[in-house]
Amino acid sequence: MVQQAVRGDRVEELARRRGFLWQAYEIYGGSSGFYDYGPLGARLKRQLEAEWRLFYSLEGFYEIESPNIAPGEVFKASGHLDCFTDSSVVCKNCNRFFRIDDEIATGGKCPECGGELEAAGEFNLMFQTRIGVPKMDAKNEAYLRPETAQGIFINFQRLLRFNRDKLPFGVIQVGKAYRNEISPRQSLIRLREFTMAEAEVFVDPRDKNSHPGFDAVKATEIMLNPAEGEEGEMSLEDAVRSGIIANEYLGYHIAKVKEFLEKMGIPIERLRFRQHRKDEMAHYARDCWDAEFLSARYGWMEIVGIADRGDYDLSAHAASSKVDMSLHSPEGKIIPHVIEPSYGIDRIIYALLESGFAEERVGKENRRVLRLIPGLAPIKAAVFPLLNREELKMRAKEVFQSLKRELVYVDYDDSGSIGRRYRRQDEIGTPYCITIDYQTLEDDTVTIRDRDTMQQRRVKIDELSGELKKSLR
Ligand code: AMP
Repeated sequence: MVQQAVRGDRVEELARRRGFLWQAYEIYGGSSGFYDYGPLGARLKRQLEAEWRLFYSLEGFYEIESPNIAPGEVFKASGHLDCFTDSSVVCKNCNRFFRIDDEIATGGKCPECGGELEAAGEFNLMFQTRIGVPKMDAKNEAYLRPETAQGIFINFQRLLRFNRDKLPFGVIQVGKAYRNEISPRQSLIRLREFTMAEAEVFVDPRDKNSHPGFDAVKATEIMLNPAEGEEGEMSLEDAVRSGIIANEYLGYHIAKVKEFLEKMGIPIERLRFRQHRKDEMAHYARDCWDAEFLSARYGWMEIVGIADRGDYDLSAHAASSKVDMSLHSPEGKIIPHVIEPSYGIDRIIYALLESGFAEERVGKENRRVLRLIPGLAPIKAAVFPLLNREELKMRAKEVFQSLKRELVYVDYDDSGSIGRRYRRQDEIGTPYCITIDYQTLEDDTVTIRDRDTMQQRRVKIDELSGELKKSLR
């Protein structure tokens, strides 16, 4: 376990030192629950979001963008004002507040000073603000959104019309969400401002057990931890047919979450799907599964939530706004049900950094390597002159400039020994290093070194960008 915590420390140290991410407002002592993404981290994050958009766009989803601030009535209707709370305890000795989680519930003592804890009531997690002039008028009370989903639900009628009044259809939104977490002690895991990527699927409740794509995914083997019964691997088909997963739509989207996470490089043996117990289900959910990542540092942690929200949200907004949210079918009015995969982008980034990080012995040296998939690596290739000589540097800069036009995220480095330059790229996950040596000046070939195998091969400069594009794909 000590080993595991050390690994977590190393990853966080690397992330800070190399410009991935660090606690925000550092020069003022930092503020818990807020993080800055540096140049490499922001690029990694944008690429992950782009992959996510592409994945769901290929599934036929439409993307929208709605505001981060909403009037209070939206969250009154959605139930967040009344139900989006955490229970807290306070330490009698140091006066710190904590959220009641597994650690507190089983430990019973203050995690900071060991003092005695006492119940401190329910705490609503939404950040409150006001729209316009701050007069004490219920109409201008507003909140920062705790999830992006409500921005989709309240636009249901417009989106339905956009889809020519037909079900099913899906809508995605990527954006910031805000939760005033009681004790955000764990880096990217519990933030007060974080990025969500949410997909809302609107389906006729009578069709929930006939997803047109189910056949294509039903053989997928999934590690399930159900609310009742043993944890174990099961085919999606068996899980749905035996009723462990409530319906085909939910099952299909669980399979898609697994597919996306694996594609991004989350190791399959560190992934499971855990069903919520009755007492932990969100106020809107009928059935809910968390995709959990086994962190070396934090244990099993939720990275994606997949919920069957039923007609909860549409019915709630219909009742509150008096706007009809139903669809007229020959058999009468129906209110669509919603299946929702909700991804926490920051937690996925933490999982990718932690699981991709390795320390290896190479000869007499240690090397640190970050095994990110090429599509997410912040730098795709780095170009080096073998030695610090003018004629090599000139040629290397030419190669660098022409590669930059093709691959954009390319680096040039001529400082320090070649071994050190390889190490610097390995630890930020650069898949390929290109070296210009004296043979280059004779025959226009360069070496390409592979981050993972450390093997080198020679290619003609003319073929370099084509070769790299092929390997990066
Ligand atoms: P939830 O709506 O609570 O199911 O959250 C959906 C996803 O958002 C979770 O699976 C997490 O990945 C992410 N998430 C929730 N709360 C936080 C937080 N405080 N900090 C970072 N990510 C979060």
